Amino acid sequence: MILCRLQFECYQDTRLAVAEEAIGLYLAALRDQGQIQGREFPTLMGDSGFTAHVLCPEPRSLHPDFASDQVQQAEQGLHQAGLLAPRVKVLGQELFSDETDPCATPEALIFFTSFLHTCSPVRCAEHFAPVPLYRLPALSNGDQKQLVQWQEDWQACDQLQMNGSVLQHAATRELSELDSDLSRRGRKLAQRLAGQLARPVYYYLYRLGGTSLTEEKNRPCPGCGGHWLLTEPWHGVFDFCCPVCQLVSNLSWDWRD
Ligand SMILES: [Zn+2]
Ligand SMILES: [Zn+2]
Repeated sequence: MILCRLQFECYQDTRLAVAEEAIGLYLAALRDQGQIQGREFPTLMGDSGFTAHVLCPEPRSLHPDFASDQVQQAEQGLHQAGLLAPRVKVLGQELFSDETDPCATPEALIFFTSFLHTCSPVRCAEHFAPVPLYRLPALSNGDQKQLVQWQEDWQACDQLQMNGSVLQHAATRELSELDSDLSRRGRKLAQRLAGQLARPVYYYLYRLGGTSLTEEKNRPCPGCGGHWLLTEPWHGVFDFCCPVCQLVSNLSWDWRD
């Protein structure tokens, strides 16, 4: 991912609270479109305006071509608060983040995230690299907010099951079961995207527990009941794949080498 600096210049007197709110709404709109990622945007106040630091999937992520209606509205909100549209400075590649997928149009996609990832939850099936959300058809009301919120919920459940101190079982169920609220919501988005792109979009079901390795290997696809064990793990994560149901999963982490 790319670290960028946004400079919001004041062109008329503005109250701090009004400017803060307008910048906050603008950053939230960019985030809902996948143009910026993560949750924290360190922002400084200077003599002539404000400077925010954001992580973007690509150097061109903040180009107006990728803006949603919501981003454009939020830009109007900046003007009303006495601020100019931000000047963007690309600072460079951030060291600890995933590289964005190189494909112009990936052949197939996978919904995959974890509590450690700040990148897009939609990955190219060939490179397993994150695909910027603004490059995909809008799945919510003109932007990708539903997908971003699904990712937040997935990551929150993943964090709970990793920490294992509260709500561990409920969280694991949401990540693992085909009929959990989280899976149903995520699959609906994946199916909508698959329909719009006319390409497969796989949904990942997390797997933990089980009674033995043999039983885990024989676990049928929870969608169709068919055989879905792969001969080799795919991208080092997926041991199961059902092309019919467009589901992928791992051998239970309790039994995996
Ligand atoms: Zn790719
Ligand atoms: Zn299936």
